Amino acid sequence: MSTPIVGIDLGTTNSLVAIMRAGQPVLLPSPVGSLTTPSAVSIDDSGELLVGEAARARALTHPQRCATNFKRDMGTSRRQHLGELSMSAPGLSALVLTSLQRDAEAALGEPVTQAVITVPAYFGDLQRQATRDAASLAGIEVLRFINEPTAAALAYGLHRLDQELRALVLDLGGGTFDVTVLEIIEGVIEIQASAGDARLGGEDFAEALVELLAARIAEQQGVPPDLEDPQIHARLLAACERAKRRLSAAEEVRVPLPDFPLGDERLDLELSLTRADAEAHWQPLLARLRGPINRALTDAELEPSAIDEVLLVGGATRMPCLIALAARIFGRMPNRSLPPDEAVAMGAAIQAALIADDEAVEDLVVTDIAPFSMGVETSTRVAGRAIGGMFSPVLERGTVIPASRIEHYLPLHDAQDTLVLRIYQGEHALVRHNTLLGEIRVPLPRAGSSEHKSVGVRFTYDLNGILEIDAIVEATGDKHSLVIEQRPGALTASALERARAAMQRLKFHPRESLPNRTTLARADALHVQLRGAPRALLREQIQFFEVALSGQEPREIEQARESLQATIEGLSRFL
Ligand code: AMP
Repeated sequence: MSTPIVGIDLGTTNSLVAIMRAGQPVLLPSPVGSLTTPSAVSIDDSGELLVGEAARARALTHPQRCATNFKRDMGTSRRQHLGELSMSAPGLSALVLTSLQRDAEAALGEPVTQAVITVPAYFGDLQRQATRDAASLAGIEVLRFINEPTAAALAYGLHRLDQELRALVLDLGGGTFDVTVLEIIEGVIEIQASAGDARLGGEDFAEALVELLAARIAEQQGVPPDLEDPQIHARLLAACERAKRRLSAAEEVRVPLPDFPLGDERLDLELSLTRADAEAHWQPLLARLRGPINRALTDAELEPSAIDEVLLVGGATRMPCLIALAARIFGRMPNRSLPPDEAVAMGAAIQAALIADDEAVEDLVVTDIAPFSMGVETSTRVAGRAIGGMFSPVLERGTVIPASRIEHYLPLHDAQDTLVLRIYQGEHALVRHNTLLGEIRVPLPRAGSSEHKSVGVRFTYDLNGILEIDAIVEATGDKHSLVIEQRPGALTASALERARAAMQRLKFHPRESLPNRTTLARADALHVQLRGAPRALLREQIQFFEVALSGQEPREIEQARESLQATIEGLSRFL
Protein backbone atom coordinates (compact mmCIF):
# COMPACT_ATOMS: atom_id res chain seq x y z
CA MET A 1 0.00 0.00 0.00
CA SER A 2 1.34 3.42 -0.85
CA THR A 3 1.80 5.96 1.92
CA PRO A 4 0.03 9.29 1.67
CA ILE A 5 1.91 12.29 0.27
CA VAL A 6 0.89 15.55 1.86
CA GLY A 7 1.31 19.10 0.61
CA ILE A 8 2.86 21.55 3.06
CA ASP A 9 2.92 25.35 2.96
CA LEU A 10 5.76 26.20 5.35
CA GLY A 11 5.10 29.91 5.80
CA THR A 12 6.80 32.81 7.58
CA THR A 13 3.82 33.46 9.86
CA ASN A 14 1.58 30.43 9.32
CA SER A 15 1.97 26.90 8.01
CA LEU A 16 -0.61 24.49 6.63
CA VAL A 17 -0.85 20.85 5.62
CA ALA A 18 -3.25 19.50 2.99
CA ILE A 19 -4.06 16.30 1.14
CA MET A 20 -6.22 15.36 -1.84
CA ARG A 21 -9.45 13.59 -1.02
CA ALA A 22 -11.90 12.60 -3.73
CA GLY A 23 -10.13 14.87 -6.18
CA GLN A 24 -10.25 17.93 -3.92
CA PRO A 25 -7.52 19.45 -1.76
CA VAL A 26 -8.50 19.32 1.92
CA LEU A 27 -6.70 21.14 4.73
CA LEU A 28 -5.98 19.10 7.85
CA PRO A 29 -6.71 20.66 11.24
CA SER A 30 -4.32 21.25 14.15
CA PRO A 31 -5.13 19.87 17.63
CA VAL A 32 -6.85 23.18 18.43
CA GLY A 33 -9.10 22.77 15.41
CA SER A 34 -7.45 25.45 13.30
CA LEU A 35 -6.45 24.95 9.66
CA THR A 36 -3.39 27.15 10.07
CA THR A 37 -0.53 26.53 12.49
CA PRO A 38 1.44 29.64 13.45
CA SER A 39 5.11 29.15 12.55
CA ALA A 40 6.13 29.76 16.15
CA VAL A 41 8.02 27.68 18.70
CA SER A 42 8.24 28.20 22.44
CA ILE A 43 9.75 26.33 25.34
CA ASP A 44 7.93 26.26 28.66
CA ASP A 45 9.36 26.27 32.17
CA SER A 46 9.47 22.48 32.33
CA GLY A 47 11.53 22.37 29.11
CA GLU A 48 8.66 21.16 26.95
CA LEU A 49 8.33 22.52 23.45
CA LEU A 50 5.17 24.11 22.19
CA VAL A 51 4.54 24.71 18.51
CA GLY A 52 1.81 26.74 16.83
CA GLU A 53 -1.02 28.64 18.47
CA ALA A 54 0.21 28.13 22.06
CA ALA A 55 3.71 29.31 21.11
CA ARG A 56 2.36 32.39 19.35
CA ALA A 57 0.25 33.31 22.37
CA ARG A 58 3.34 32.95 24.57
CA ALA A 59 5.36 35.27 22.31
CA LEU A 60 3.62 38.16 24.05
CA THR A 61 4.15 36.91 27.59
CA HIS A 62 7.51 35.12 27.20
CA PRO A 63 9.28 36.72 24.23
CA GLN A 64 12.67 35.37 25.41
CA ARG A 65 11.40 31.81 25.20
CA CYS A 66 9.78 32.04 21.77
CA ALA A 67 11.02 31.94 18.20
CA THR A 68 9.10 33.33 15.22
CA ASN A 69 9.85 34.47 11.64
CA PHE A 70 12.64 31.88 11.30
CA LYS A 71 11.83 31.24 7.64
CA ARG A 72 13.69 34.49 6.98
CA ASP A 73 16.87 32.90 8.39
CA MET A 74 16.80 29.76 6.24
CA GLY A 75 20.15 29.27 4.54
CA THR A 76 21.98 31.44 7.08
CA SER A 77 23.82 30.44 10.24
CA ARG A 78 21.59 32.64 12.44
CA ARG A 79 20.20 30.95 15.53
CA GLN A 80 17.32 31.97 17.77
CA HIS A 81 17.33 31.51 21.53
CA LEU A 82 14.51 29.96 23.49
CA GLY A 83 15.59 30.25 27.08
CA GLU A 84 18.70 28.07 27.35
CA LEU A 85 18.11 26.41 24.01
CA SER A 86 19.64 27.82 20.85
CA MET A 87 18.20 26.62 17.56
CA SER A 88 18.89 27.06 13.86
CA ALA A 89 16.21 27.99 11.33
CA PRO A 90 16.08 24.41 9.93
CA GLY A 91 15.80 23.05 13.49
CA LEU A 92 12.89 25.38 14.28
CA SER A 93 11.24 24.67 10.92
CA ALA A 94 11.63 20.95 11.64
CA LEU A 95 9.52 21.43 14.78
CA VAL A 96 6.76 23.10 12.76
CA LEU A 97 6.96 20.31 10.18
CA THR A 98 6.77 17.68 12.94
CA SER A 99 3.68 19.36 14.30
CA LEU A 100 2.04 19.37 10.83
CA GLN A 101 3.12 15.76 10.30
CA ARG A 102 1.42 14.73 13.55
CA ASP A 103 -1.75 16.59 12.58
CA ALA A 104 -1.75 14.80 9.23
CA GLU A 105 -1.14 11.44 10.89
CA ALA A 106 -3.96 12.08 13.37
CA ALA A 107 -6.33 13.01 10.51
CA LEU A 108 -5.32 10.18 8.19
CA GLY A 109 -4.67 7.45 10.76
CA GLU A 110 -1.41 6.37 9.13
CA PRO A 111 2.25 7.43 9.11
CA VAL A 112 3.14 10.43 6.95
CA THR A 113 6.74 10.56 5.77
CA GLN A 114 6.60 12.12 2.30
CA ALA A 115 5.65 15.62 1.28
CA VAL A 116 5.66 18.29 -1.35
CA ILE A 117 6.78 21.51 0.32
CA THR A 118 6.26 25.00 -1.05
CA VAL A 119 9.05 27.59 -1.10
CA PRO A 120 9.13 31.21 -2.30
CA ALA A 121 10.20 31.55 -5.94
CA TYR A 122 13.21 33.58 -4.83
CA PHE A 123 14.51 30.88 -2.46
CA GLY A 124 18.04 30.03 -3.61
CA ASP A 125 20.02 26.89 -3.37
CA LEU A 126 20.95 27.40 0.27
CA GLN A 127 17.43 28.11 1.42
CA ARG A 128 16.02 25.11 -0.44
CA GLN A 129 18.73 22.91 1.02
CA ALA A 130 17.98 24.28 4.51
CA THR A 131 14.30 23.42 3.95
CA ARG A 132 15.28 19.92 2.88
CA ASP A 133 17.40 19.60 6.06
CA ALA A 134 14.43 20.73 8.15
CA ALA A 135 12.24 18.07 6.56
CA SER A 136 14.91 15.46 7.01
CA LEU A 137 15.17 16.33 10.73
CA ALA A 138 11.42 15.83 10.98
CA GLY A 139 11.71 12.47 9.22
CA ILE A 140 10.00 13.77 6.08
CA GLU A 141 11.25 13.11 2.58
CA VAL A 142 10.70 16.06 0.25
CA LEU A 143 9.50 14.58 -3.03
CA ARG A 144 9.40 17.97 -4.68
CA PHE A 145 9.76 21.61 -3.86
CA ILE A 146 7.14 23.70 -5.57
CA ASN A 147 7.21 27.46 -5.78
CA GLU A 148 4.45 29.18 -3.85
CA PRO A 149 3.04 31.09 -6.87
CA THR A 150 3.11 27.91 -8.96
CA ALA A 151 1.17 26.15 -6.20
CA ALA A 152 -1.37 29.00 -6.19
CA ALA A 153 -1.79 28.62 -9.97
CA LEU A 154 -2.39 24.87 -9.52
CA ALA A 155 -4.97 25.52 -6.80
CA TYR A 156 -6.79 27.86 -9.17
CA GLY A 157 -6.66 25.13 -11.82
CA LEU A 158 -4.89 27.35 -14.36
CA HIS A 159 -2.94 24.32 -15.64
CA ARG A 160 -6.22 22.71 -16.68
CA LEU A 161 -7.47 25.59 -18.78
CA ASP A 162 -7.20 24.80 -22.41
CA GLN A 163 -5.69 28.11 -23.34
CA GLU A 164 -2.44 29.95 -23.28
CA LEU A 165 -2.43 32.55 -20.54
CA ARG A 166 -0.35 34.85 -18.43
CA ALA A 167 -1.08 35.11 -14.75
CA LEU A 168 0.32 37.31 -12.04
CA VAL A 169 0.32 36.17 -8.43
CA LEU A 170 0.30 38.85 -5.72
CA ASP A 171 1.23 37.30 -2.39
CA LEU A 172 1.01 39.62 0.62
CA GLY A 173 1.59 37.66 3.81
CA GLY A 174 2.29 38.86 7.34
CA GLY A 175 5.83 40.05 6.64
CA THR A 176 6.62 39.51 2.97
CA PHE A 177 5.37 40.59 -0.43
CA ASP A 178 6.02 38.52 -3.57
CA VAL A 179 4.97 39.17 -7.14
CA THR A 180 5.32 36.47 -9.77
CA VAL A 181 4.49 36.45 -13.45
CA LEU A 182 3.56 33.00 -14.76
CA GLU A 183 3.04 31.80 -18.29
CA ILE A 184 0.82 28.76 -18.74
CA ILE A 185 0.92 26.97 -22.06
CA GLU A 186 -0.71 23.57 -22.50
CA GLY A 187 -0.63 22.84 -18.81
CA VAL A 188 3.01 23.85 -18.41
CA ILE A 189 3.42 26.52 -15.76
CA GLU A 190 6.53 28.59 -16.26
CA ILE A 191 7.78 31.39 -14.06
CA GLN A 192 8.60 34.41 -16.22
CA ALA A 193 9.71 36.82 -13.54
CA SER A 194 9.52 37.32 -9.83
CA ALA A 195 10.13 40.31 -7.59
CA GLY A 196 9.30 41.15 -4.03
CA ASP A 197 9.98 42.93 -0.81
CA ALA A 198 11.06 40.66 2.04
CA ARG A 199 10.32 43.41 4.58
CA LEU A 200 6.80 44.43 3.63
CA GLY A 201 3.66 42.65 4.76
CA GLY A 202 0.32 42.83 6.54
CA GLU A 203 2.10 43.52 9.84
CA ASP A 204 3.34 46.86 8.48
CA PHE A 205 -0.26 47.91 7.84
CA ALA A 206 -1.13 47.20 11.48
CA GLU A 207 2.03 49.00 12.64
CA ALA A 208 1.07 52.05 10.54
CA LEU A 209 -2.27 52.18 12.36
CA VAL A 210 -0.39 52.30 15.68
CA GLU A 211 1.13 55.63 14.61
CA LEU A 212 -2.26 56.90 13.50
CA LEU A 213 -3.98 55.92 16.75
CA ALA A 214 -1.14 57.28 18.86
CA ALA A 215 -1.46 60.64 17.07
CA ARG A 216 -5.24 60.61 17.64
CA ILE A 217 -4.81 59.85 21.35
CA ALA A 218 -2.26 62.65 21.68
CA GLU A 219 -4.68 65.04 19.95
CA GLN A 220 -7.67 64.01 22.09
CA GLN A 221 -5.96 63.75 25.46
CA GLY A 222 -3.05 66.13 25.06
CA VAL A 223 -0.62 63.36 26.06
CA PRO A 224 0.94 60.93 23.58
CA PRO A 225 1.08 57.23 24.50
CA ASP A 226 4.60 56.05 25.33
CA LEU A 227 5.31 53.85 22.32
CA GLU A 228 8.81 53.13 23.65
CA ASP A 229 7.18 51.07 26.39
CA PRO A 230 6.95 47.55 24.88
CA GLN A 231 3.76 46.72 26.82
CA ILE A 232 1.97 49.84 25.60
CA HIS A 233 3.18 49.31 22.06
CA ALA A 234 2.09 45.63 22.12
CA ARG A 235 -1.36 46.64 23.36
CA LEU A 236 -1.87 49.23 20.66
CA LEU A 237 -0.54 46.84 18.03
CA ALA A 238 -2.96 44.09 19.10
CA ALA A 239 -5.86 46.57 18.94
CA CYS A 240 -4.71 47.81 15.51
CA GLU A 241 -4.34 44.28 14.14
CA ARG A 242 -7.95 43.58 15.12
CA ALA A 243 -9.11 46.93 13.72
CA LYS A 244 -7.27 46.31 10.45
CA ARG A 245 -8.95 42.94 9.97
CA ARG A 246 -12.39 44.31 10.80
CA LEU A 247 -11.86 47.20 8.37
CA SER A 248 -11.63 44.62 5.58
CA ALA A 249 -15.36 44.04 6.09
CA ALA A 250 -16.59 47.28 7.69
CA GLU A 251 -16.29 50.94 6.66
CA GLU A 252 -15.80 52.08 10.23
CA VAL A 253 -14.75 50.35 13.46
CA ARG A 254 -14.53 51.33 17.10
CA VAL A 255 -11.25 50.70 18.86
CA PRO A 256 -11.81 50.41 22.61
CA LEU A 257 -8.76 50.82 24.82
CA PRO A 258 -10.06 50.29 28.37
CA ASP A 259 -7.79 51.14 31.24
CA PHE A 260 -5.12 52.48 28.92
CA PRO A 261 -1.94 53.88 30.54
CA LEU A 262 -1.45 57.50 29.52
CA GLY A 263 1.02 59.72 31.37
CA ASP A 264 0.47 58.99 35.06
CA GLU A 265 -3.13 57.95 34.58
CA ARG A 266 -5.10 55.03 33.28
CA LEU A 267 -8.04 55.98 31.08
CA ASP A 268 -10.90 54.20 29.38
CA LEU A 269 -10.36 55.34 25.81
CA GLU A 270 -12.41 54.62 22.74
CA LEU A 271 -11.54 55.78 19.25
CA SER A 272 -13.21 55.33 15.95
CA LEU A 273 -11.40 54.57 12.76
CA THR A 274 -12.77 54.69 9.24
CA ARG A 275 -11.46 52.63 6.36
CA ALA A 276 -10.89 55.88 4.45
CA ASP A 277 -8.67 57.25 7.26
CA ALA A 278 -6.70 54.01 7.45
CA GLU A 279 -6.24 53.86 3.69
CA ALA A 280 -5.08 57.47 3.55
CA HIS A 281 -2.48 56.57 6.17
CA TRP A 282 -1.45 53.45 4.24
CA GLN A 283 -0.65 55.39 1.05
CA PRO A 284 3.16 55.10 1.48
CA LEU A 285 2.82 51.31 1.99
CA LEU A 286 0.50 50.99 -1.02
CA ALA A 287 3.02 52.96 -3.07
CA ARG A 288 5.76 50.54 -1.98
CA LEU A 289 3.68 47.61 -3.26
CA ARG A 290 3.83 49.09 -6.75
CA GLY A 291 7.62 48.75 -6.95
CA PRO A 292 7.83 44.94 -7.08
CA ILE A 293 4.73 44.76 -9.34
CA ASN A 294 6.39 47.09 -11.86
CA ARG A 295 9.70 45.24 -11.58
CA ALA A 296 8.12 41.85 -12.26
CA LEU A 297 6.20 43.21 -15.26
CA THR A 298 9.30 44.92 -16.65
CA ASP A 299 11.40 41.75 -16.23
CA ALA A 300 8.71 39.70 -17.98
CA GLU A 301 8.51 42.45 -20.67
CA LEU A 302 4.77 42.69 -20.24
CA GLU A 303 2.28 45.54 -19.98
CA PRO A 304 -0.30 45.18 -17.18
CA SER A 305 -3.00 44.71 -19.84
CA ALA A 306 -1.23 41.55 -21.07
CA ILE A 307 -2.03 39.75 -17.79
CA ASP A 308 -5.04 37.46 -18.16
CA GLU A 309 -5.47 36.46 -14.51
CA VAL A 310 -4.43 38.18 -11.29
CA LEU A 311 -4.44 35.81 -8.30
CA LEU A 312 -4.42 37.09 -4.74
CA VAL A 313 -2.62 34.99 -2.15
CA GLY A 314 -1.70 35.65 1.51
CA GLY A 315 -3.99 36.78 4.35
CA ALA A 316 -3.32 40.49 3.84
CA THR A 317 -4.77 40.50 0.30
CA ARG A 318 -8.16 40.57 2.03
CA MET A 319 -7.67 44.31 2.46
CA PRO A 320 -10.02 46.15 0.07
CA CYS A 321 -7.30 48.73 -0.72
CA LEU A 322 -5.06 45.95 -1.99
CA ILE A 323 -7.85 44.52 -4.15
CA ALA A 324 -8.55 48.03 -5.49
CA LEU A 325 -4.85 48.63 -6.20
CA ALA A 326 -4.67 45.40 -8.23
CA ALA A 327 -7.86 46.27 -10.08
CA ARG A 328 -6.51 49.75 -10.92
CA ILE A 329 -3.15 48.50 -12.17
CA PHE A 330 -4.47 45.60 -14.23
CA GLY A 331 -7.80 47.03 -15.34
CA ARG A 332 -9.61 43.90 -14.15
CA MET A 333 -10.83 42.43 -10.89
CA PRO A 334 -8.34 40.01 -9.36
CA ASN A 335 -9.39 36.41 -8.84
CA ARG A 336 -9.87 35.67 -5.17
CA SER A 337 -12.31 32.81 -5.22
CA LEU A 338 -10.08 30.69 -2.94
CA PRO A 339 -9.26 31.63 0.67
CA PRO A 340 -6.01 33.58 0.20
CA ASP A 341 -4.16 31.90 3.06
CA GLU A 342 -5.08 28.38 1.93
CA ALA A 343 -4.45 28.44 -1.83
CA VAL A 344 -0.72 27.64 -1.64
CA ALA A 345 -1.21 24.57 0.59
CA MET A 346 -4.02 23.40 -1.69
CA GLY A 347 -1.70 23.64 -4.68
CA ALA A 348 0.96 21.63 -2.84
CA ALA A 349 -1.61 18.89 -2.20
CA ILE A 350 -2.54 18.87 -5.90
CA GLN A 351 1.12 18.51 -6.85
CA ALA A 352 1.48 15.70 -4.26
CA ALA A 353 -1.47 13.85 -5.77
CA LEU A 354 -0.02 14.20 -9.25
CA ILE A 355 3.20 12.61 -8.02
CA ALA A 356 1.30 9.85 -6.16
CA ASP A 357 -0.85 8.95 -9.15
CA ASP A 358 2.00 9.41 -11.53
CA GLU A 359 -0.82 10.87 -13.50
CA ALA A 360 -0.06 13.61 -15.95
CA VAL A 361 3.14 14.54 -14.16
CA GLU A 362 4.67 14.58 -17.58
CA ASP A 363 1.93 16.90 -18.78
CA LEU A 364 2.38 19.15 -15.87
CA VAL A 365 6.01 20.05 -16.30
CA VAL A 366 6.40 22.67 -13.66
CA THR A 367 9.31 24.87 -14.53
CA ASP A 368 11.06 27.39 -12.45
CA ILE A 369 13.72 30.06 -12.72
CA ALA A 370 17.19 29.97 -11.26
CA PRO A 371 17.03 32.50 -8.44
CA PHE A 372 20.80 33.21 -8.49
CA SER A 373 23.57 33.10 -11.03
CA MET A 374 25.97 30.19 -10.70
CA GLY A 375 29.39 30.08 -12.25
CA VAL A 376 33.12 29.76 -11.80
CA GLU A 377 36.05 31.91 -10.77
CA THR A 378 38.27 32.98 -13.64
CA SER A 379 41.54 34.84 -14.08
CA THR A 380 42.67 36.97 -16.96
CA ARG A 381 46.10 38.09 -17.98
CA VAL A 382 46.40 41.86 -18.08
CA ALA A 383 49.77 43.35 -19.07
CA GLY A 384 51.54 40.13 -18.22
CA ARG A 385 49.90 39.83 -14.81
CA ALA A 386 47.23 37.28 -13.88
CA ILE A 387 44.23 38.97 -12.28
CA GLY A 388 42.14 36.40 -10.48
CA GLY A 389 38.96 36.45 -8.51
CA MET A 390 36.60 37.38 -11.35
CA PHE A 391 33.18 35.72 -11.53
CA SER A 392 32.10 34.09 -14.77
CA PRO A 393 28.43 33.01 -14.62
CA VAL A 394 27.54 29.79 -16.42
CA LEU A 395 23.86 29.67 -15.45
CA GLU A 396 22.50 33.21 -15.23
CA ARG A 397 19.89 34.25 -12.72
CA GLY A 398 16.45 34.00 -14.33
CA THR A 399 17.34 31.01 -16.53
CA VAL A 400 14.34 28.71 -16.86
CA ILE A 401 15.11 25.43 -15.07
CA PRO A 402 15.58 22.51 -15.31
CA ALA A 403 18.51 23.79 -17.35
CA SER A 404 21.92 22.74 -18.55
CA ARG A 405 24.51 25.23 -19.87
CA ILE A 406 28.09 24.80 -20.96
CA GLU A 407 30.94 27.32 -21.09
CA HIS A 408 34.52 26.75 -22.20
CA TYR A 409 37.60 27.78 -20.25
CA LEU A 410 41.31 27.75 -21.05
CA PRO A 411 44.27 27.51 -18.68
CA LEU A 412 46.26 30.72 -18.23
CA HIS A 413 49.56 29.36 -19.54
CA ASP A 414 50.97 26.41 -21.50
CA ALA A 415 52.71 24.72 -18.56
CA GLN A 416 49.64 24.65 -16.35
CA ASP A 417 48.88 21.06 -15.31
CA THR A 418 45.68 21.59 -13.35
CA LEU A 419 42.64 23.79 -13.79
CA VAL A 420 41.06 24.61 -10.46
CA LEU A 421 37.38 25.33 -10.89
CA ARG A 422 35.87 27.14 -7.94
CA ILE A 423 32.09 27.18 -8.13
CA TYR A 424 30.25 30.26 -6.86
CA GLN A 425 26.70 31.46 -6.53
CA GLY A 426 25.86 35.16 -6.62
CA GLU A 427 25.60 38.27 -8.72
CA HIS A 428 28.82 40.16 -7.99
CA ALA A 429 31.64 40.67 -10.47
CA LEU A 430 34.25 39.66 -7.87
CA VAL A 431 33.90 36.16 -6.46
CA ARG A 432 34.87 37.27 -2.99
CA HIS A 433 31.42 38.88 -2.69
CA ASN A 434 29.66 35.71 -3.84
CA THR A 435 29.12 32.37 -2.07
CA LEU A 436 31.59 29.55 -2.63
CA LEU A 437 29.76 26.27 -3.31
CA GLY A 438 32.62 23.87 -4.09
CA GLU A 439 35.71 23.14 -6.11
CA ILE A 440 36.83 20.70 -8.84
CA ARG A 441 40.48 20.14 -9.71
CA VAL A 442 40.82 19.15 -13.37
CA PRO A 443 44.20 17.60 -14.40
CA LEU A 444 45.20 18.89 -17.84
CA PRO A 445 47.13 17.03 -20.57
CA ARG A 446 50.87 17.75 -20.42
CA ALA A 447 51.49 18.29 -24.11
CA GLY A 448 50.20 21.15 -26.17
CA SER A 449 49.67 24.83 -25.76
CA SER A 450 47.02 26.32 -23.52
CA GLU A 451 44.63 26.84 -26.47
CA HIS A 452 44.50 23.07 -26.86
CA LYS A 453 43.59 22.47 -23.25
CA SER A 454 40.05 23.81 -23.34
CA VAL A 455 37.76 22.53 -20.61
CA GLY A 456 34.02 22.47 -21.12
CA VAL A 457 32.19 23.23 -17.88
CA ARG A 458 28.58 22.13 -17.83
CA PHE A 459 26.20 23.25 -15.08
CA THR A 460 22.98 21.28 -14.73
CA TYR A 461 20.43 22.59 -12.29
CA ASP A 462 17.24 20.72 -11.54
CA LEU A 463 13.88 21.62 -10.04
CA ASN A 464 14.91 20.42 -6.62
CA GLY A 465 17.83 22.80 -6.51
CA ILE A 466 20.49 20.14 -7.05
CA LEU A 467 23.47 21.53 -8.96
CA GLU A 468 25.64 19.15 -10.94
CA ILE A 469 28.87 20.28 -12.55
CA ASP A 470 30.74 18.34 -15.23
CA ALA A 471 34.16 19.48 -16.37
CA ILE A 472 35.24 17.84 -19.66
CA VAL A 473 38.80 18.11 -20.95
CA GLU A 474 38.01 18.46 -24.62
CA ALA A 475 41.30 17.06 -25.96
CA THR A 476 40.97 13.76 -24.07
CA GLY A 477 37.28 13.51 -23.17
CA ASP A 478 38.21 13.11 -19.46
CA LYS A 479 35.27 14.04 -17.27
CA HIS A 480 35.29 15.24 -13.65
CA SER A 481 31.98 15.74 -11.91
CA LEU A 482 30.73 17.32 -8.76
CA VAL A 483 27.26 17.27 -7.27
CA ILE A 484 26.96 20.15 -4.88
CA GLU A 485 25.50 18.70 -1.75
CA GLN A 486 27.60 20.31 0.90
CA ARG A 487 26.47 23.90 0.67
CA PRO A 488 27.46 26.57 3.15
CA GLY A 489 24.83 26.72 5.86
CA ALA A 490 23.54 23.26 4.95
CA LEU A 491 24.17 20.34 7.27
CA THR A 492 26.65 17.57 6.53
CA ALA A 493 25.44 13.98 6.88
CA SER A 494 27.10 13.67 10.29
CA ALA A 495 25.81 17.07 11.46
CA LEU A 496 22.35 16.03 10.32
CA GLU A 497 22.67 12.81 12.32
CA ARG A 498 23.73 14.78 15.40
CA ALA A 499 20.91 17.28 14.92
CA ARG A 500 18.44 14.39 14.54
CA ALA A 501 19.68 12.84 17.79
CA ALA A 502 19.38 16.24 19.51
CA MET A 503 15.81 16.59 18.17
CA GLN A 504 14.95 13.24 19.66
CA ARG A 505 16.10 14.45 23.06
CA LEU A 506 13.73 17.41 22.91
CA LYS A 507 10.54 16.99 24.84
CA PHE A 508 7.37 17.79 22.94
CA HIS A 509 4.29 18.86 24.70
CA PRO A 510 1.82 15.95 24.32
CA ARG A 511 -0.51 16.58 21.38
CA GLU A 512 -3.65 15.55 23.29
CA SER A 513 -3.18 18.25 25.88
CA LEU A 514 -2.34 21.02 23.40
CA PRO A 515 -5.88 22.47 23.34
CA ASN A 516 -5.61 22.93 27.14
CA ARG A 517 -2.12 24.38 26.91
CA THR A 518 -3.09 26.72 24.08
CA THR A 519 -6.13 28.00 25.93
CA LEU A 520 -4.00 28.68 29.01
CA ALA A 521 -1.34 30.49 26.94
CA ARG A 522 -4.01 32.66 25.29
CA ALA A 523 -5.61 33.40 28.66
CA ASP A 524 -2.24 34.37 30.10
CA ALA A 525 -1.47 36.66 27.15
CA LEU A 526 -4.82 38.38 27.65
CA HIS A 527 -4.30 38.61 31.42
CA VAL A 528 -1.10 40.60 30.82
CA GLN A 529 -3.05 43.15 28.81
CA LEU A 530 -6.08 43.55 31.08
CA ARG A 531 -6.57 45.25 34.42
CA GLY A 532 -9.29 45.70 36.96
CA ALA A 533 -12.59 43.82 36.81
CA PRO A 534 -12.12 42.10 33.43
CA ARG A 535 -8.75 40.87 34.63
CA ALA A 536 -10.25 39.49 37.84
CA LEU A 537 -13.00 37.74 35.86
CA LEU A 538 -10.43 36.14 33.61
CA ARG A 539 -8.32 35.06 36.59
CA GLU A 540 -11.33 33.39 38.13
CA GLN A 541 -11.96 31.39 34.94
CA ILE A 542 -8.26 30.42 34.76
CA GLN A 543 -8.54 29.15 38.32
CA PHE A 544 -11.62 27.06 37.51
CA PHE A 545 -9.76 25.59 34.61
CA GLU A 546 -6.68 24.79 36.72
CA VAL A 547 -8.92 23.07 39.27
CA ALA A 548 -10.58 21.02 36.51
CA LEU A 549 -7.19 20.08 35.09
CA SER A 550 -5.97 18.85 38.48
CA GLY A 551 -9.12 16.69 38.80
CA GLN A 552 -8.28 14.92 35.53
CA GLU A 553 -11.92 14.35 34.71
CA PRO A 554 -12.10 14.76 30.89
CA ARG A 555 -15.67 16.09 30.74
CA GLU A 556 -15.04 18.66 33.45
CA ILE A 557 -11.81 19.73 31.80
CA GLU A 558 -13.58 20.22 28.50
CA GLN A 559 -16.37 22.23 30.07
CA ALA A 560 -13.97 24.47 31.96
CA ARG A 561 -11.88 24.94 28.84
CA GLU A 562 -14.89 25.94 26.77
CA SER A 563 -15.96 28.35 29.43
CA LEU A 564 -12.49 29.88 29.59
CA GLN A 565 -12.38 30.13 25.79
CA ALA A 566 -15.73 31.94 25.77
CA THR A 567 -14.40 34.37 28.38
CA ILE A 568 -11.27 34.98 26.29
CA GLU A 569 -13.35 35.66 23.17
CA GLY A 570 -15.66 37.98 25.10
CA LEU A 571 -12.89 39.96 26.77
CA SER A 572 -10.72 40.16 23.63
CA ARG A 573 -13.41 42.21 21.96
CA PHE A 574 -12.92 44.95 24.54
CA LEU A 575 -9.19 45.25 24.04
P1 AMP B 1 -0.29 34.88 5.99
O1 AMP B 1 1.18 35.01 6.21
O2 AMP B 1 -0.67 34.62 4.59
O3 AMP B 1 -0.97 33.99 6.97
O4 AMP B 1 -0.88 36.36 6.25
C1 AMP B 1 -1.02 36.87 7.50
C2 AMP B 1 -1.36 38.35 7.34
O5 AMP B 1 -2.66 38.47 6.82
C3 AMP B 1 -1.33 39.08 8.66
O6 AMP B 1 -0.60 40.29 8.53
C4 AMP B 1 -2.78 39.37 8.92
O7 AMP B 1 -2.95 40.58 9.61
C5 AMP B 1 -3.36 39.47 7.53
N1 AMP B 1 -4.80 39.25 7.52
C6 AMP B 1 -5.47 38.13 7.84
N2 AMP B 1 -6.80 38.32 7.75
C7 AMP B 1 -6.99 39.61 7.34
C8 AMP B 1 -8.14 40.43 7.04
N3 AMP B 1 -9.38 39.96 7.16
N4 AMP B 1 -7.92 41.70 6.65
C9 AMP B 1 -6.67 42.19 6.52
N5 AMP B 1 -5.55 41.48 6.79
C10 AMP B 1 -5.71 40.20 7.19
